[in-house]
Amino acid sequence: MLDVIVIGMGAHGSAGLFHLSKKGFNVLGLEQFDQIHNNGSYHGLSRIIRMGLYEGDTYLPLAKRSFELWRDLEKEYNEQILYMTGIINIGKKNSDIYKNTLNSAIKHNLDYTDMNNQEIMSKFPGFELSKDLNGVFMKEGGFLDPEKSVKAHTQLAIKNKAIINYNEKVLSWEDKISHIEVLTNKATYKTKKLVIAGGAWNIDLFGIPNLPLSVIRQVVGWFPSNNKSLFDKNNFPVWILDDGKNHGYGFPEYGNEGLKIGIFNHLNEKVHPDKNNKNITPEDIKLLSDFTKNFKNTKKGENYGVCMFTNTPDDNFILDKHPSSENCIIVSCCSGHGFKYSSAIGEIISDLCNEGKTEYNIDLFNISRFN
Ligand SMILES: Cc1cc2nc3c(=O)[nH]c(=O)nc-3n(C[C@H](O)[C@H](O)[C@H](O)COP(=O)(O)OP(=O)(O)OC[C@H]3O[C@@H](n4cnc5c(N)ncnc54)[C@H](O)[C@@H]3O)c2cc1C
Repeated sequence: MLDVIVIGMGAHGSAGLFHLSKKGFNVLGLEQFDQIHNNGSYHGLSRIIRMGLYEGDTYLPLAKRSFELWRDLEKEYNEQILYMTGIINIGKKNSDIYKNTLNSAIKHNLDYTDMNNQEIMSKFPGFELSKDLNGVFMKEGGFLDPEKSVKAHTQLAIKNKAIINYNEKVLSWEDKISHIEVLTNKATYKTKKLVIAGGAWNIDLFGIPNLPLSVIRQVVGWFPSNNKSLFDKNNFPVWILDDGKNHGYGFPEYGNEGLKIGIFNHLNEKVHPDKNNKNITPEDIKLLSDFTKNFKNTKKGENYGVCMFTNTPDDNFILDKHPSSENCIIVSCCSGHGFKYSSAIGEIISDLCNEGKTEYNIDLFNISRFN
């Protein structure tokens, strides 16, 4: 019998498997697609990581631990995964993004610079901002390479004797009291513990009636510039920007040519993960292209990518024991901001499997809040 099966080798499952394998557990990871794929929520070359938090205090210890663990992972994997560019959160004075970032920075004594639109544009000439926008810049921020992160977690887990079966889809699972039985399209397995980290597929895998999770289609685009230095990662930061009309986020040039732009929740289209439309529509292009007014010298978008957010109504994560199975850990850490924490969440998953508890306060992520 296996000690732990982890369903889903995406952001959180791969990190969980890595930390479990480090602790010497006999673990199996099951992934319905290839080692790296573009059907879920982690692909697209870059994910923001930041200490500047506007979501609440629970996330700060997780952010601090995540930074440490990403740096440890880079050392162990011997490749760069984390790029420190700094981050600027921009909005009107009364916007959540500006106000909450500033308050959090002050409250937690973080290193920050409060800037008006002119100061931002003079420090980062790639921005073209209206007068009513202000920003909080923090050096402690940047981006992760998500494909490389997943590769590092899975390959190092295999080095630690974990087994991963790709192209094997979990169809169902059942708690038999003495063990949990997992049925896939290829085999049936017995395990003492189960971790479900299926991303956008969690609704079906959790099997919890009336769980208010919604899967939303996301599109990101890359916008090249005639002046490449404007969006060079050595002098342009990652950013989150609420211009009063749309709430966007993005990255300096990395991987694909140009500035990368996304809008939180895009066109708010609810989808089933097996039927997410990967074709780019004129509405997709218009929304992203209109947002380029906040930047100087961008050309027509050349590359686009489609992905999914799995949202809770309060945008906080689910990280808990399954309500009807003590030995099953359920992980839904998305709402568009989960990747950065996956290194720390992997460690928490291994603690929950090992000791049934964690030193982090994860009460905010309890499933019982949806009762
Ligand atoms: C466009 C976009 C931009 C984002 N930007 C950021 C950002 O800047 N910063 C940030 O922190 N976060 C960001 N996020 C969120 C972050 O990427 C997600 O929180 C994270 O990827 C969720 O991880 P996950 O493990 O839950 O899901 P995934 O990473 O999607 O992994 C789930 C895995 O489970 C597998 N699976 C599902 N069902 C089964 C089954 N039945 N059998 C076997 N395998 C199965 C899937 O194939 C998949 O590989 C962004 C998300 C998107 C879509």
